[in-house]
Order: sequence, then structure tokens, then C-alpha cells
Amino acid sequence: MDLDFTAGEEEFRQRARDWLAGHVPAEPLPSLETREGFAAHRAWEGELAADRWSVVSWPEEYGGQGVDIVKWLMFEEEYFAAGGPGRVSQNGINLLAPTLFDFGTDEQRARVLPPMASGEVIWVQAWSEPESGSDLASLRSTARRTSGGWLISGQKTWSSRAAFADRAFGLFRSEPYESGGTGNAKPHRGLTYLMFPLDADGVTVRPIGRLDGKPAFAELFLDDVFVPDEDVIGEPGQGWRIAMSTTGNERGLTLRSPGRFVASADRLVRQWRAHGDPADTALRDRVADAAIGARAYQLFTWANASRFAAGETIGAESSLNKVFWSEYDIALHETALDLLGAEGELADGGEWAEGYVFSLAGPIYAGTNEIQRDIIAERLLGLPKGRR
Ligand SMILES: Cc1cc2nc3c(=O)[nH]c(=O)nc-3n(C[C@H](O)[C@H](O)[C@H](O)COP(=O)(O)OP(=O)(O)OC[C@H]3O[C@@H](n4cnc5c(N)ncnc54)[C@H](O)[C@@H]3O)c2cc1C
Repeated sequence: MDLDFTAGEEEFRQRARDWLAGHVPAEPLPSLETREGFAAHRAWEGELAADRWSVVSWPEEYGGQGVDIVKWLMFEEEYFAAGGPGRVSQNGINLLAPTLFDFGTDEQRARVLPPMASGEVIWVQAWSEPESGSDLASLRSTARRTSGGWLISGQKTWSSRAAFADRAFGLFRSEPYESGGTGNAKPHRGLTYLMFPLDADGVTVRPIGRLDGKPAFAELFLDDVFVPDEDVIGEPGQGWRIAMSTTGNERGLTLRSPGRFVASADRLVRQWRAHGDPADTALRDRVADAAIGARAYQLFTWANASRFAAGETIGAESSLNKVFWSEYDIALHETALDLLGAEGELADGGEWAEGYVFSLAGPIYAGTNEIQRDIIAERLLGLPKGRR
């Protein structure tokens, strides 16, 4: 692995830094989990897209700059160091777009990707169901053949930002699952991956109350919603294989790029210098651990990026990243709140306190950490399968 950057890479980093210095809002935007904040973040996506910064790694024809993974990581580092707003379009950009690049048609890419890049159409992930989270293949929502397309019915839940978003992508059972040996005996066979609008006839979006009272999280009720054939991704019945090929992206790299943690750890170190009690060596060690953890994660990610650049892929290793960043994020926020004491609720506009509440969900979303540990045990360490 070569840790030096080329002149072209450094030039790219400087260009990103300059653009961000001139554009990142001076005041943080309102939370993207509220209607007002969602609209402000959508507008920010448009501003990024106007200068091709919303999806730097995509080909130019879809609104990107066609840069490689090294420059994408550089951009992420600069973005978080500059205090860039949260990305309201991340489910579309990080999950649906890679799926369309690999499995979509030219027509789908041309139709779906440019408005996704500009924030004009914001997508949600409609995978989970009330009794199918970890055991996703047991999902029960159906897709039934009809003239020119499919009719989808059922219930999806835990859809981030669905209360204010525009369209969804999800998995539906298009062939009946018969447990017990005959017919289509494997639950992950016969699933179809498709896209649908959240304002279509037959769709009801109901917000789910969150601990912090923000209203964007929602469940979806679907009653014979028509989806035309052009909105099926890949072949009908192949949805599981298609969906699984992109989950590694979310756990492994795109959901939590290290720039975010490096920026947060730097902020924590600055707060330790300003408020820390040098006699409190236990807290000092936790601050140091946070700084070391961020650098370790940064280096691990750069190592993965080198492997990508050399044409390799990452599979089960992405579970290591997921467990690491989710546990790290909680420890980082707990350290900051302990350091700030009662002021932690208010410091930086309540950012640490809000971040702490959100960090608690990290071990659950994008596949729970218990499931990730099973993957690590079985596929990376070669341990025998547990009893399930
Ligand atoms: C903040 C947040 C945002 C989310 N956003 C989305 C979204 O946008 N779209 C979407 O589709 N979903 C989303 N989810 C859903 C998320 O993916 C699921 O919550 C997650 O996969 C767990 O599923 P579950 O909630 O049904 O819990 P369960 O699967 O019922 O798990 C309950 C507990 O049992 C454990 N467990 C279950 N099976 C096993 C096993 N085989 N071995 C060991 N332990 C096991 C789990 O690890 C967990 O601790 C979100 C969740 C959260 C919290």
C-alpha cells in the first residue's frame, strides 16, 4: 500500500477544500429529520450538485466527476472537516445507485440517477418489515403480476426519512414461499426488487415516534400499488442476490466514511484542551482512545480503498467496519458528554447530545451487530455455525 498521494490527487483535495470553504453554511442546517430541515438539506444537495460535488465518484453523464475511490475518500474527509451538513440523499446515493450501476438498465440509470444527484428525488430504503429485520428473507410483502407491471401489497417499517421523501426501493415476494420441502422452499428465492413512488395510489406513509420526537422515520402500508415493469431492477425473482450485492457498500464504506469520525475526534480533542481536567487521567485516556480509534479506522479504510483500486472487492470484511464504527461512535459521544458535564446538552447547539441519541441506533441499523458478529465468526474466522 502506497500512502503518498499524487499531485493530481492533492490538486483534487485542494479544489474540494476551496469549494467547501466557500459554500458550507455558516450555521448548521435544522435537523434533516424535520420537515423544515429536510427541505433545507434537499436544497443543499442541489447546491452540491450544481458544481458536481454531490456524487463525485459517479460518471459525468449522471452528474458526477468520475473520480476514483481515493479521491472520493479525500472528498469525504474534506467534507466532514469543513462541517458539511448531513446527506439527506444517502440511501439513494449509497444503496440504490450502486445497484443500478450493476443491475439496472441504461434507461433506468438515465431516468433515476440525475434527479437523485440533484436532490430533486429523494429515495428511501423499504426493506424491513415488522417481523423481518435480521431475518430479512422471511419478508411477506407481495408483488403480483398484472398487465404491464406488478401490484405490491404489505407493510414495510423503519424507513428512514420516509415521511418527507419521494420514492422507495424494496424487496417483494413475487413467488410464494412454501416451507417444508416442496416447490419454492428457500425463503430468499422468488423475491423481486423494485422501485415505487411514495405518493402513488395505495401507499400510506405513517410516521413512527422517535425518542427525540423528530417525525421523519416512518412505516409504509401498501395496498395493490401499481409498479410498471420499467421499475423492476434486474430479473423478477432475483431480488435477493441483487440486494445482497450492495449491502456490503453500506456496512463497509459508504455509510460511515472515516472523515466523519476524524472530524468528530478532532473536535473532542479541542474540547479536552479547552475544558479538560489534566488530573482526570481516566477521561484523558478515553479522549486519546477516541483520537487513536479515528486514525485507526481512517487507515483501515485507506487500506480497503487500496484493495478496491487494485481491483479487489470486500465481502464479509465489511462486517468488521460496521461493528467498529457503530461501537466507536457511541464511545466517542459518551466521552464528549462526560467531558462537558451538564453543558453537554447545550454545547455546539446540542450537537453532541443529539449525536449521542442517534449513535445508539448504530448497532441496530444496516444489520444488527449480533448478525455482523455471526458473519465475522462464520465467514472470516471459519468457526462453526451457531445453533439458530
Ligand atoms: C435508526 C434506524 C434506521 C433504520 N432505517 C431503515 C431503513 O431506512 N430502511 C429499512 O428497510 N430498515 C431500516 N432500519 C431497520 C433495521 O435494518 C432493522 O431494525 C434491523 O435490521 C434489525 O431488525 P429488527 O428491528 O426487526 O430486529 P430483530 O431482527 O427482531 O432483532 C432483535 C434482536 O435479536 C437479535 N437477533 C436476531 N436474529 C439473530 C440471530 N440469528 N443471531 C443472533 N442475534 C439475533 C438482533 O441482533 C437484535 O438484537 C432502521 C433501523 C433503525 C434503528
